[in-house]
Amino acid sequence: RPPLRTLPGRDQFPLLQAQPELIYLDSAATSQKPLAVLDAERDFYTRDYANVHRGSYQLAARATAAYEGARARVARFLNAEADEIVFTRGCTEAINLVAASWGCSLKAGDEILVSTLEHHANIVPWQLLAARCGAIVRPIPLNQDGQIDLAAFHRLLGPRTRLLAITQAANATGTRPPLAEILAAARAHGVTTLVDGAQGVVHDTHDMQALGADFYAFSGHKLFGPTGIGVLYGRGALLQDMPPWQGGGEMIESVSFDGTRFAEAPQRFEAGTPPIAQAVGLAAALDWLSQYDLAHWELHELALQHQLEAGLSLMQGVHVLARHTERAPISSLHFSGAHPYDVAQFLDARSIAARVGQHCAQPLLAHLGVSSTLRLSFGPHNTTSDVEQVLAALAETLDLLA
Ligand code: PMP
Repeated sequence: RPPLRTLPGRDQFPLLQAQPELIYLDSAATSQKPLAVLDAERDFYTRDYANVHRGSYQLAARATAAYEGARARVARFLNAEADEIVFTRGCTEAINLVAASWGCSLKAGDEILVSTLEHHANIVPWQLLAARCGAIVRPIPLNQDGQIDLAAFHRLLGPRTRLLAITQAANATGTRPPLAEILAAARAHGVTTLVDGAQGVVHDTHDMQALGADFYAFSGHKLFGPTGIGVLYGRGALLQDMPPWQGGGEMIESVSFDGTRFAEAPQRFEAGTPPIAQAVGLAAALDWLSQYDLAHWELHELALQHQLEAGLSLMQGVHVLARHTERAPISSLHFSGAHPYDVAQFLDARSIAARVGQHCAQPLLAHLGVSSTLRLSFGPHNTTSDVEQVLAALAETLDLLA
């Protein structure tokens, strides 16, 4: 094995190469794509593309091998088995799949614990499920810093608790909940657990044996892969016991009007033509990632976050949300004298791409007492010079708006 490379620079990302002035600080929304991923999709379409699973000709067999190879690649990345990996359209669809399928077993009065750190994708599917079956969604409260209130969480775990849904890292603030303690307590109560790995998969553990959750969901596009592909990991026996959630081709064993028999998991959960080239692109993203020392990469992004927040602390009227919590390299800002939307527009005029708004996390923002923030999130291609330019642009902007 060759030694690991330290960091991918801008030269790995064609979009950043083509737009040298752009400072991209929105990797938490989606990551820019490395050339290796673009090449893999193009090669697949030009050499091996056909529909999967049903063709008898060689080209279809190659396409099927590429698609199933991508599943095996994801399984290796997650330290899981290939039949524990369901391909979906994204993280949102993966969570909806669990709510629609596993959720069928819930009864009126059963309780679903959902943390207040969550993206709407890990709140609304549970609310829809609760409305269907009479279950109750119980929010896990946060403390003043914006971290999980552990004492309150332990009090909420009770005999009616059936599911715990929690993020590995909050997209709006970067906050990492103390997942090991939380999952261990849920397991001890026999509660099924789902971890939203949309943010965490990039920065935190993606070893399913170490994490110990029953379900894990993420999107390919935040992990340097294409859009339109996501992953649901489901611990072996659980997936095999779950009913289908969508019907169609590919998910059946046999169909007749006397009764249809369904395929085994994971095919049972993949009705219709799947996102074939996107799965191939995701596998290429994982291969590309595996060349790098991810621990070094993480330290690089955290150092940039530290540089940013140290600079901000010298400015009047800038506040970093959930600053005192353990965070991924995401900084969410609000301002005493300026609206985040105005600040974002000024930054955009200086070719700085930063996200503004509620970040699909209204309960979290409401808890922290703000209605929108300016969010800066780092990628491996960001540099100390990017941070210097952002700090200068913010200082200038806040002067103008004050
Ligand atoms: N959960 C979290 C924590 C996220 O950050 C996101 C994406 N912003 C999602 C879920 C949903 O992912 P997607 O929109 O790719 O389905």
